[in-house]
Amino acid sequence: MELFIAKKAKEVSPSSTLAIDAKFKSMKAQGLDVVGFGTGEPDFDTPQHIKDAAVEAISAGKTKYTPASGTLELKKAICGKLLADNGLEYEPASIVVSNGAKHSLVNAFMAICDPGDEVIIPAPYWVSYPEMVKLADGVPVALETTEENGFKFSIDDLKAKITPKTRALIINSPSNPTGMVYSEADLRAIAQIAVEHKIYVISDEIYEHLIYNGKHVSIASFGDEIKELTIVINGVSKTYAMTGWRIGYAAADKRLAGVMSNIQSHATSNPNSIAQEAAVCALTGSIQCVEQMREAFLARRNYMVGRINSIGGVSCLMPEGAFYVMMNISQLIGKTLGGRHIGGSDDFADAFLETAKVAVVSGSGFGADNYVRWSYATDMDTIKTGLDRLETFLKS
Ligand code: PMP
Ligand code: GLU
Repeated sequence: MELFIAKKAKEVSPSSTLAIDAKFKSMKAQGLDVVGFGTGEPDFDTPQHIKDAAVEAISAGKTKYTPASGTLELKKAICGKLLADNGLEYEPASIVVSNGAKHSLVNAFMAICDPGDEVIIPAPYWVSYPEMVKLADGVPVALETTEENGFKFSIDDLKAKITPKTRALIINSPSNPTGMVYSEADLRAIAQIAVEHKIYVISDEIYEHLIYNGKHVSIASFGDEIKELTIVINGVSKTYAMTGWRIGYAAADKRLAGVMSNIQSHATSNPNSIAQEAAVCALTGSIQCVEQMREAFLARRNYMVGRINSIGGVSCLMPEGAFYVMMNISQLIGKTLGGRHIGGSDDFADAFLETAKVAVVSGSGFGADNYVRWSYATDMDTIKTGLDRLETFLKS
């Protein structure tokens, strides 16, 4: 019997970042000598003081439903963080705590998109953005950027994409997958356009602490008008190596936060009560643990970029933030590697995994078929092995 599947559901493609991780883990479980640079997940363990807070929370019986949009204590901790790190003043009623920043983003698109509303997404983009917009009945509109321009769009490029149906623009700085960081001047110019056209800005700031030169600036901090139009998205996954705990949050105008909270109250209720206690500890504790991780990422980035650019046939820019490198493979398109014709990034990623046993994410899901993405959120020995294998593979 053919099963009926809703059109909207059929059109959603699986997450390529999570798919490569599943494939990598299954190959590893089969005993294969595979190395993984697929999913962007810090290899560090969650800092001990944060884990201790969770154990204490269990012992203290913090095991019940909390308010759907998060505990007041955690919302206050988030407000404290937004003020201290980003100069943003929000009340707890403006905060919605969700099951990871991914969930916060889905809530945000559900809250602002009517059917057919367009959301401008600078490309290369994180794989989930277009699918989330489609799930919310919106229309993703890619705003192409080039490597020559550092993967940044110009104000004219942005203006050319704005139509009467434009509802929102996504800004992800530092960016997954390019590592690009917008300067304060760039962000001010973008904010001006958003205010002029009354376009929401979904500002995904999940990599804010992983900038290797300079400091993160939130676009919401440039005045009341842009703050009203911005939904700041953040979370503890990347900063505190807490990917599995599933705590993310949105900060927005109280009216929008209320709508997102209503949606969440029917879809999932509160995020895990114990993880919320751990997140309070993370956000109110010392930032020292984050600094140590950032320094390790910096050394890995420098090594990876140096090696890639010393190998013929591939190249990459120096990413300014996050923990990803976009490797340009355009010179390899049309060639044969590992006995396979390379027609695009999917072929390269498949051949590299099958022949050299190295998992990277194909650029096709990021809207960038001439690239594959390496994550350097893994240890230096693995990085060396992966790049040695790249060198050998390219000689095949
Ligand atoms: N935004 C970006 C750009 C990401 O790379 C990720 C990674 N998963 C997320 C949001 C969501 O993170 P999480 O759901 O783990 O909080
Ligand atoms: N954001 C990370 C990545 O891009 C984690 C996986 C995911 O949620 O997509 O690899």
